[in-house]
Amino acid sequence: MKDFRYFLKYLKPHRGKFVGGLVLCVIYGASSGAGIPLIMKNVLGGFFEQSPETFSWSEAFAMAALLPLVFTIRSVSGFVGGLLMAACGFRYLQALRQEIFDKLQLLPFAYFDRQAKGDLLSRILVDTQEVSYGIIDVSTEVRQPIQMAAALGFIFYTCAKHNLWSFLLVLAVTFPAVIIPIRLIARHLRRRARNCLEVASEITQSISENLGALREIRAYNLQKLQGKRFGESLDRSFVESIKLFKYQKLNQPLTEILSACVVSAIFLASLQVGITLDVFIAIGTAFFFCFDPVKKITKAYNNFERMRPAFERINGILQEPLVARDPDAPKTISSPKGQVSFKEVTFSYQHEPVLRNFSFSVTPNSSLALIGPSGAGKSTIINLLLRFYDADQGEIMVDGVNVCDLTRKHLRDQFTLVSQSPFLFNCSIFENIALSKSDATQEEVEEAAKKAQAHDFITALEQGYDTYVGDDGGRLSGGQRQRIALARAFLKPAPIVLLDEATSALDAESEQAVREALKQLMSQRSIIAISHRLSFIEHFDRIGVVNDGRLVGLGSHSELYGQNPLYTMLYDQYHSQGKDRTDSGVSDNQ
Ligand code: ATP
Repeated sequence: MKDFRYFLKYLKPHRGKFVGGLVLCVIYGASSGAGIPLIMKNVLGGFFEQSPETFSWSEAFAMAALLPLVFTIRSVSGFVGGLLMAACGFRYLQALRQEIFDKLQLLPFAYFDRQAKGDLLSRILVDTQEVSYGIIDVSTEVRQPIQMAAALGFIFYTCAKHNLWSFLLVLAVTFPAVIIPIRLIARHLRRRARNCLEVASEITQSISENLGALREIRAYNLQKLQGKRFGESLDRSFVESIKLFKYQKLNQPLTEILSACVVSAIFLASLQVGITLDVFIAIGTAFFFCFDPVKKITKAYNNFERMRPAFERINGILQEPLVARDPDAPKTISSPKGQVSFKEVTFSYQHEPVLRNFSFSVTPNSSLALIGPSGAGKSTIINLLLRFYDADQGEIMVDGVNVCDLTRKHLRDQFTLVSQSPFLFNCSIFENIALSKSDATQEEVEEAAKKAQAHDFITALEQGYDTYVGDDGGRLSGGQRQRIALARAFLKPAPIVLLDEATSALDAESEQAVREALKQLMSQRSIIAISHRLSFIEHFDRIGVVNDGRLVGLGSHSELYGQNPLYTMLYDQYHSQGKDRTDSGVSDNQ
């Protein structure tokens, strides 16, 4: 219930609509529960018990008009109240999804390492919808208890007026029996609802994995296996859904059977006490408006129980700690120069350290290349520099300021990153390049594309810079995607450029041209590059040799070659196997 109160905050901005909706639901409930039985009694009494001498058409018209009047009030308040509640529910859904989405932007990478993407998708799409529909349903059915209270009030008033106390006693004893099944079933319902949500996550995960690995699945003929696994998830979903459905639907027949028993008891009681027809019909109508809410309250209660597991799963994301927040009084780098240093940094993703007492520095406008076997910890250095993860020990400084003393935004403004498989958004090439500098002009974007050897292939496309690249740049080749990412780097006026296998998908000719462009860049920026292509890094100011999380060599090519055994071996292997191959051969042979 505490969680539930936390979620009520989303309704605050819409309290006007919510209260308006509630008031209309109250009107609906009162006009149904008391208004209609009252009319039944008066109209029936008025019409059928009048003597011909006192009969007047004007009174008859007035009485007849009461019926459409009450029904109009009931229908309009029901419709408008329901609409207002639905609007609140959909706004609620919007705010909830927005908060989760915003939270995901802030959560540490370690969270995503342990959380399945499909499960997160399912929580944002399915669970939030479940909650929002539950809210709409529960809020709209607020009118039901009011209707029931009004009807019970009418019954009590009528019985008291006509001295039908024993009749009232029968009602008071039998009526609660109708409510018993509701509580019994609720517990089962909640468990089933949780299982259903978990299977929905499994299904979303399968779909998202399948769509993200289309090539691998077809290349390795995994379609059948994937289909079988998906089918198994669907089977589980069927079993859980049917169980949920069973408990949801069981309530209604149980309530109806028990209601019928209560009505029989009331019939017998009415014979016993001798009630006139108009009073019996009025009480009977009031009864109808009592039982109907019981059914609907049961349904709303079921929905509330169903949405509780969804609340808990959403809350799991919202309450996830942000591990390290930005400092309260952050420092800033007033004149960025591009100086980087690692001092005795130790870091582990889980238990085993991936970097151990790692130290190096990069002076402004100089270049450092990191090489080493696969899994040595090179990309981890970039992860720590950008604070995707935080070091366990040691200090990482940018322009003399500890990265933990800067806001993440300010820190990341100092860098531009080109990775091995850069992500392209499903928008135009222009927008994809310009995302590194939001106010970039067409000339600036083209200039950056020229430096990245991308301009020629872009202008050869029918729509040039306006070409849409498809989902994750699917309409472009790997080399073209990488050149667009390089153009981003050339465009962003950041003092430090990080290249993580940034030229691995380029042919030798393009790489040579990009290398020339990078040379120009090196005079104005600091560059840290990871590459298995030793021809690419040979001319860097310094080369750091990384092995098993340690820096085992640092110097220029001429200083390392022949002196550092690992570097010499990597270099010789690379050259003996041919310069034009891709990077993986070097590392895989270690
Ligand atoms: P490569 O040249 O193959 O890209 P690398 O030198 O860049 O390798 P890293 O990516 O830094 O190596 O990984 C170093 C070690 O950390 C590896 O053993 C890897 O399995 C592990 N590792 C990397 N990322 C994670 C992660 N998110 N969670 C757990 N372990 C990780």
